Amino acid sequence: MRFKQDFFEQLDSFYTQVYPQGISNPHWLGWSDDAAKLIGLEKPNDALLMQLSANAAAPGASYYAQVYSGHQFGGYTPRLGDGRSIILGEAIGPNGAWDVALKGGGPTPYSRHGDGRAVMRSAVREFLVSEALAALSVPTSRALAVIGSDLPVWRESQETAAITVRLAKSHIRFGHFEYFCYSEKGAPDKLIQLLNFTLAQHFPHLTADAAGYKQWFVEVVQSTAKMIAHWQAVGFAHGVMNTDNMSILGDTFDFGPFAFLDTFKEDFICNHSDHDGRYAFGQQPGIGLWNLKRLAQALTPIIPSDDLIAALNTYQPSLVSHYVSLMRAKLGLSTDSCLDSAEQEKQDLALISQFTVMLDNNQLDYSNSLRKMGQVDISSQYSPLRDDMLNVSEFDRWYQAYQARVGDVADVAAWQQQRNLHNPKYILRNYLAQEAIIDIEEKADNSKLLQLQQLLTRPYDEQPDMDHYAKRPPDWGQGLVMSCSS
Ligand code: AMP
Ligand code: MG
Repeated sequence: MRFKQDFFEQLDSFYTQVYPQGISNPHWLGWSDDAAKLIGLEKPNDALLMQLSANAAAPGASYYAQVYSGHQFGGYTPRLGDGRSIILGEAIGPNGAWDVALKGGGPTPYSRHGDGRAVMRSAVREFLVSEALAALSVPTSRALAVIGSDLPVWRESQETAAITVRLAKSHIRFGHFEYFCYSEKGAPDKLIQLLNFTLAQHFPHLTADAAGYKQWFVEVVQSTAKMIAHWQAVGFAHGVMNTDNMSILGDTFDFGPFAFLDTFKEDFICNHSDHDGRYAFGQQPGIGLWNLKRLAQALTPIIPSDDLIAALNTYQPSLVSHYVSLMRAKLGLSTDSCLDSAEQEKQDLALISQFTVMLDNNQLDYSNSLRKMGQVDISSQYSPLRDDMLNVSEFDRWYQAYQARVGDVADVAAWQQQRNLHNPKYILRNYLAQEAIIDIEEKADNSKLLQLQQLLTRPYDEQPDMDHYAKRPPDWGQGLVMSCSS
């Protein structure tokens, strides 16, 4: 790894330098060749294992924990910061730099009452989901590796510690801006310094002046809208959309009790601690806007309110537009011959919503239903999904409207093939991650993890002998709800 240290060198009151503490008997549980390429690495080796398990210093690394704050479940916490993630610096890759962070690397001044560690199950889940989302083209942080150990840690019971090696284009969160707004009221110097740094590093096409700031916030609003449109289209629930878990670049970030939908359920809650369903699947678009408003509030010392409000007003249309375009690709709704695009978008959104309401009412699997719809012979009167519906006449009405919207398809096989490129056969179902974790826990066997990782890097391809991974969860694996004690 070849590092540069821009954050460390330019923002010295924005972090605390802190060295990670090694985990005993480190061993690779997982490694991502795809993520490795991003920072110019090839294969894992023993020297890297020692560095990334914090048992040896990585040449060129600086080791620091960033300070930030955030709104957690609606309430403001004035100081959070990296409690268990230590950043080594920005590793230079062929197409740009990536922060490398050891998540679970030991305590920092921001650990509050925590131990600075991550348990194996949560480290494995973060590793798998980062790479799975990337393969689905969802903007996300990445995971280079997950490293197991025999270091005991206590949660509800004794478990073992692990480290996820996270790669992120930036670790700057909405919460960074909130911290430097509210902790240094009336003196926006730090806020300006942070924003200028963000612009120089990540928005080089913008100038560090009023016009650049205004446009920057528009871009943050839009990238956040785009990220959430992707979540809704692939059926991903993040679970802890606190503002400290929102990346300023619109990358999915800080994974905890996340889940992919099995059964489509608008009010699906994946987080055991989320009693009111604040972060339920169907709430995510609204919470995205709520979070952006908290960010806007923190920017009022440096960006005029009118500009912030104008940018916030672009959120909803932008999200809808991205969502409709992703769903069109899944359902085969071409826009080639559409005249009025705003009107067409409205009609398509209605058609898509009727479809998801039927999935919800009939307790159908989200991804599998879409995959099945994509294999329909579009000229035939019946869809294979019809048999899964209790109210067939409602479905028939919808299907007729859908057929009319799809129109004539010259080459059905090619049309179906196209659909398969947008409807994954394999997703990271919670029960699959759980099975991989149990094998590691009980048999020290990571082969299921590796198999799952392989599978999820090619989620759209038919993979011989892997059909069982596309099945709906068995009884024990339905509605698994994850706790935050990771
Ligand atoms: P999260 O819900 O994972 O985003 O975490 C919220 C805050 O708690 C962040 O500041 C984390 O760094 C911190 N945190 C979570 N778990 C631990 C832990 N085991 N030790 C120290 N800090 C933690
Ligand atoms: Mg967090």
